[in-house]
Amino acid sequence: MQKETFVVVLGAGDLSEQTKKASVSGVAKIFEVSHDSLKDSLTSPVVDALEAVFLKANPDLVLMGATKKGKEIAPKLATRLKIGCISDALKVVQDGKDCTAQRLVWGGNSIATVKSSGVAIVTIPPRSYEPASGSSSPEVAKVEFQPKPQRVVLLGKKEKPKGQVSIKDADVIVSAGRGFKKKEDLALLDELVKVLNGAMGASRPLTSDLGWVAEERQVGLSGTTVKPKLYIAVGISGQIQHLTGMRDSKIVVAINSDKNAPIFQECDYGAVGDLYQIIPELVKTFKAQLGR
Ligand SMILES: Cc1cc2nc3c(=O)[nH]c(=O)nc-3n(C[C@H](O)[C@H](O)[C@H](O)COP(=O)(O)OP(=O)(O)OC[C@H]3O[C@@H](n4cnc5c(N)ncnc54)[C@H](O)[C@@H]3O)c2cc1C
Repeated sequence: MQKETFVVVLGAGDLSEQTKKASVSGVAKIFEVSHDSLKDSLTSPVVDALEAVFLKANPDLVLMGATKKGKEIAPKLATRLKIGCISDALKVVQDGKDCTAQRLVWGGNSIATVKSSGVAIVTIPPRSYEPASGSSSPEVAKVEFQPKPQRVVLLGKKEKPKGQVSIKDADVIVSAGRGFKKKEDLALLDELVKVLNGAMGASRPLTSDLGWVAEERQVGLSGTTVKPKLYIAVGISGQIQHLTGMRDSKIVVAINSDKNAPIFQECDYGAVGDLYQIIPELVKTFKAQLGR
């Protein structure tokens, strides 16, 4: 039997624009949930809203992005509904209400095949598939819900600094690793980022350990998975936890002084040498070539 695809649009106020955006090919129905409690970044009201939609839609399978928020919402919702939850699935095969999924484990070194009996929530890593395209005229159903009393309340929000390209959307990412000796030296890399109109990424030592780079720029297992057209890893050794987050990039370039660094097994182009000499040369060459 042909399965129908439903989409849930959540937010506050008028959601017609978001609903229009979600009306891509193959969507049969959109559930629109608008409530003031959904305008903040708290996940509990989202779980309440999705529970209400679930009970109305009675789906055979629930798919959700394996984003930071999705990873928090999916297990909470699954616990609430007493259904299964499979995270970070690369491939999902549905068989009635059961589903079988393949997911990366051990930092991307192995693929585990897992099966859920009965309805499950499956999270899919961002950029695993091409975005849906085309258009459709789905039925739109508005769903009401009453958020449960919250144990956590939002006290305040701090806006992100503007003007920096997010690594999630960048076509070019230049990432810094522990090969940089001090924070001030990242200015060198910033020049390369600017001349290539890219975004700066980083390995974990530079984000969580040293605090030189904002955490949202961390690429890898416990950071963000990226898929740019060009990824340049500078002074990064290429540990599996980093590779997991960038190995699907179209072209990977590595710059490292150690010719045996594992990153050279994963790159399309590699330069063995001192980043402090190579980066200024690259900036000079790109400036001349690109006229920037
Ligand atoms: C549960 C868990 C989750 C993790 N998640 C992540 C994650 O999401 N992302 C992540 O990145 N890591 C993550 N890690 C950490 C990971 O295991 C590595 O420790 C980390 O990726 C190493 O970062 P690095 O390559 O910058 O540093 P190092 O491994 O120290 O490598 C530095 C490299 O710089 C080179 N170098 C030194 N000087 C120069 C120079 N002058 N010029 C050129 N090259 C030079 C060296 O040869 C070396 O290869 C995680 C670890 C665990 C346990």
